[in-house]
Amino acid sequence: MQIRTRLTLLFLLLAAGILAAVLFGVHWLFKKNMEETFFNSLQSKVELTMQTVLPNELTFQPLANEWIAPEEDTLPYRDNISIFDNSYNRVFTIRKEAMPVTARELQEIYQNGETRFKHYNLLALGKKVNTALTEYVIVAEGYCDPNELINLRNILIFSFFVGIFLVAISGWYYAGKVLQPVSQIVNEVERIQPSDLSRRVETGENRDELARMAETFNHLLDRVEHAFQMQRMFVSNVSHELKNPLTAIRSQLDVALQRERSPEDYRKALQSVLDDIQDLSEMEQKLLQLARVYSSPQNINYAPTPLDELLWQTVEQFQKQYPQYKASVEFSQMPETGDGLMIEANEPLLRLALLNLMNNACKYSPDHRVLLKAIFKADGHHEIGVCDNGPGIPDAEKVLIFEPFYRSPRHLKLKGTGVGLSLVQSILTLHQITLSVESPASGGAVFRLVFP
Ligand code: ADP
Repeated sequence: MQIRTRLTLLFLLLAAGILAAVLFGVHWLFKKNMEETFFNSLQSKVELTMQTVLPNELTFQPLANEWIAPEEDTLPYRDNISIFDNSYNRVFTIRKEAMPVTARELQEIYQNGETRFKHYNLLALGKKVNTALTEYVIVAEGYCDPNELINLRNILIFSFFVGIFLVAISGWYYAGKVLQPVSQIVNEVERIQPSDLSRRVETGENRDELARMAETFNHLLDRVEHAFQMQRMFVSNVSHELKNPLTAIRSQLDVALQRERSPEDYRKALQSVLDDIQDLSEMEQKLLQLARVYSSPQNINYAPTPLDELLWQTVEQFQKQYPQYKASVEFSQMPETGDGLMIEANEPLLRLALLNLMNNACKYSPDHRVLLKAIFKADGHHEIGVCDNGPGIPDAEKVLIFEPFYRSPRHLKLKGTGVGLSLVQSILTLHQITLSVESPASGGAVFRLVFP
């Protein structure tokens, strides 16, 4: 069911409930008031009878019953006043043919002193009256015309349906008006195509929930657009980066095959091709790792890992992998128990990130040394600084170096792929580790990792 229909129905049900309760209340109060007025008039009749008829009580004689049983469709509807003595004999009546009051009803009046009751289709008021001689019951009855009440009921029922009809129409209209901006947003979002992600949803002037919803859509679109741009840039960068070494390999082989050469020349050409292929394979490996981190982050497992051991093992692995470089590690504020060193991590990935940072540090610094400075914090926000004595990183490059394939023009002579730092950042983001770059005044660069 559409929200508009649902809102209208809900509104209708609510209004119908309230309207029915109010109209029912009006009807009930009117009926009560009408009966009260009618019984007051019967009361006056009883009083009048007491004053005019009862003084003649000595002349009272039991009257013969001359009542005529009414047929179904000719029920009595004429007013009457009767007096009954304490033997339940009718001793006075205005209309002899009127239906008698039953002994049970009279008994009840004697017991209660005064009773209101329904006598056939008449309303009756019975009152016990004591005289100097004995006691009597005066019963005044009359026909309370229900037509007024019936008319009122019909008017109320008609008003109810008219009210409901108006509520339905206005509910439908206002629900439509309220939901119009939502439909507008839906239409605008539907018009956005992957080929043109720069379009945005109109947020309007109001600062209401719908404007916030439109803003949320726009933020989502910002992220989608950014992701698409990254993807496009990534694809074009990959093809560009692959093109260069492939062209180089091809031209080297072309030149080598142009004429007969000495075995030494062939060896040189093959060595050069091998170097290029190694570069290619290094890039391919990093791209594969990056793709793995990007494509299925939910499948990456995390386990409690002792941070100090991880650092020692990384340094050891680094030394084995790059014997020409020198890595050292320095711990401070070691906690008393091993528990304080535990972190949730995917060990191979975190090690890969650290290895990349250490490799950069050694590659870009003339002394080819890297120092891992670990500061263990009691609150778990441990810090690791990957420090070198290299040229440092200018402020203008501090953001750019994390873009895939970005390579500083200052270091184009050194071999590299430009993928390392974006891989590092992706891995650290998965671990919720914050990465920042500093270039201290003393020189060098520090890549600082802060654990969550
Ligand atoms: P690559 O090292 O393969 O070029 P990276 O993504 O690892 O790619 O690094 C991107 C750029 O960041 C490098 O080209 C380099 O200019 C700069 N960079 C990275 N680490 C350092 C460092 N420790 N000192 C100075 N510059 C660095």
